[in-house]
Amino acid sequence: MAGNWKMNLNHAEAVSLVNKLATVLHDKKHDFAKAEVVVVPPFTDLRSVQTLVDGDHLSIKYGAQDVSIHPNGAYTGEISAAMLSKLGCAYVVVGHSERREYHGETDALVAEKAAVALAAGMTPIVCVGEGIEIRREGTHVPHVTAQVVGSLAGLSADQVSASVIAYEPVWAIGTGEVATPADAQEVCRAIRAQLAESYGDEVAAKTRVLYGGSVKASNVAALMAETDVDGALVGGASLVAEEFAGIARFY
Ligand code: PEP
Repeated sequence: MAGNWKMNLNHAEAVSLVNKLATVLHDKKHDFAKAEVVVVPPFTDLRSVQTLVDGDHLSIKYGAQDVSIHPNGAYTGEISAAMLSKLGCAYVVVGHSERREYHGETDALVAEKAAVALAAGMTPIVCVGEGIEIRREGTHVPHVTAQVVGSLAGLSADQVSASVIAYEPVWAIGTGEVATPADAQEVCRAIRAQLAESYGDEVAAKTRVLYGGSVKASNVAALMAETDVDGALVGGASLVAEEFAGIARFY
């Protein structure tokens, strides 16, 4: 269960959110044994999140929202994989639809980002998903499976099974319009079938496939009941500790 905070919260709010989340998650009334809980703050909060997580031995993991493909050098504004892994990031979101849309990120670039994250010992959360026109045309399944192929290009089978794929229909992100469990299952199943075709059944079974798009505590159970949906990538609802904990608590 990964919470992508995007470009939200001031620093004090970020620290408070992790503290609140830790309090709820460590509440002994709940069993979080199955859920891996990940927060994905802005870069500027990572050091403080690291201090909180390490200092209190929290079971929360954390990651970054993007990574540079370059190891170092004259790339103003970019953050390298080595910098992120040094900060203790376990995950890196790559190819979020907002980066694809506002920064022109292509599948090929996303695949490079996934590769540098893996090489630095982090798990890429590789985002794919169709826009509303493609959904209306009914070509969303081939569109998304082609994105999966392109966004994992060049990775070995072992690297793919060490990655996470997040299916996020763009029309469901931040809109309150959640895909039905059947919609999520249709595409997550197709993603797994594509992984089986490209890398074999074992990789397909091992690779975690998430759904993202207006997930809330009230709709998570129905989505997670689908066979091929292994978890959720959560935006807005991850900014409220009780709500995000409610999503994780489902497990
Ligand atoms: C996201 O941006 O990854 C996302 C799923 O956002 P939301 O949950 O707000 O739809």
